[in-house]
Amino acid sequence: MSEKESVKVILRCRPFSEKEKQAGHSNIVQMDTKAGTVTIFDPRSERSQPDPPKTFTFDHVFDNTCTQTEVYSMTARDIVDCVLQGYNGTVFAYGQTGTGKTFSMEGIRDVPELRGIIPMAFDHIFGYIKHAGAKTQFLVRASYLEIYNEEIRDLLNLKSKKLEIKERADTGVYVKDLSTFVIQNVEEMDQLMTVGNKNRSVGFTEMNATSSRSHSIFTITVEASETDENGEQRLRAGKLHLVDLAGSERQTKTGATGDRLKEATKINLSLSALGNVISALVDGKSSHIPYRDSKLTRLLQDSLGGNAKTLMVATMSPASYNYDETISTLRYANRAK
Ligand code: ADP
Ligand code: MG
Repeated sequence: MSEKESVKVILRCRPFSEKEKQAGHSNIVQMDTKAGTVTIFDPRSERSQPDPPKTFTFDHVFDNTCTQTEVYSMTARDIVDCVLQGYNGTVFAYGQTGTGKTFSMEGIRDVPELRGIIPMAFDHIFGYIKHAGAKTQFLVRASYLEIYNEEIRDLLNLKSKKLEIKERADTGVYVKDLSTFVIQNVEEMDQLMTVGNKNRSVGFTEMNATSSRSHSIFTITVEASETDENGEQRLRAGKLHLVDLAGSERQTKTGATGDRLKEATKINLSLSALGNVISALVDGKSSHIPYRDSKLTRLLQDSLGGNAKTLMVATMSPASYNYDETISTLRYANRAK
């Protein structure tokens, strides 16, 4: 499997919000879902020389008419299948705050047709296990953490302090002392996510910040032990990271100072570290992949590249006032192909 096949990048454009409609913002996006292209038009007509329209190509582009099920079936489903076969995988959402990262990753979990990639992965995994037959025994575990200011926080145990990343030859990269739960069914997974989300917002109120400044990682591991025709036990284990990244907007530009500036610099650092790792993987010529440049890339190290499958869901707004950020998201996502 070449790195090109193992890294996929898709783009999703959200619909206009009511507020944007009322404010009369114009649409600057044209998508060709068959060709997988998106074209952006410079809205600044007052300029004597506006930028020419720019076209970008991705593995898939999804316009505002696509459903959560379509996105899952055409993108993440394949990765979850690989994880069930014992490979590692990562799905992450990248984009400006308010463009649909959380909608794509989590969605609205209690509305069946609005469940996002993470809860659909729950459904998929336990659906598979149910039909796998008695020959195979499964062990599913989950953990949920966030990286804020280059510090790792366990979302399922608020009492834990800063956690450290470690590595072991047999099981790969892991977070020391992170709480991990054995999960029996979809309902338990959903409950775990609800608890983690609650803890996330508690933490942020204390820190006077918002979730758009942290990366959250929901991790599922699936171990399967199978008895083959000769009565021998075979074990396989796959790990899936589901990542809702911090907003990609250039926070250093917003006139932040002090702690805010430090925090903004760290967000930019880990997002650019992730971009560098992925483009080094896709490029295939680099002998050095800079995983160690951020906590995020270090943590995802054994689930990006190699035999692992990676999906980037880049999210964007259709509105004219987001032009600069949209172009910057498209450039970032384009580097990863
Ligand atoms: P982000 O996580 O990137 O900050 P959200 O996922 O919270 O953005 O999305 C912002 C708002 O837009 C939410 O109200 C969300 O429900 C809505 N939204 C985003 N993407 C879509 C979509 N594809 N279809 C319908 N609503 C969407
Ligand atoms: Mg969000």
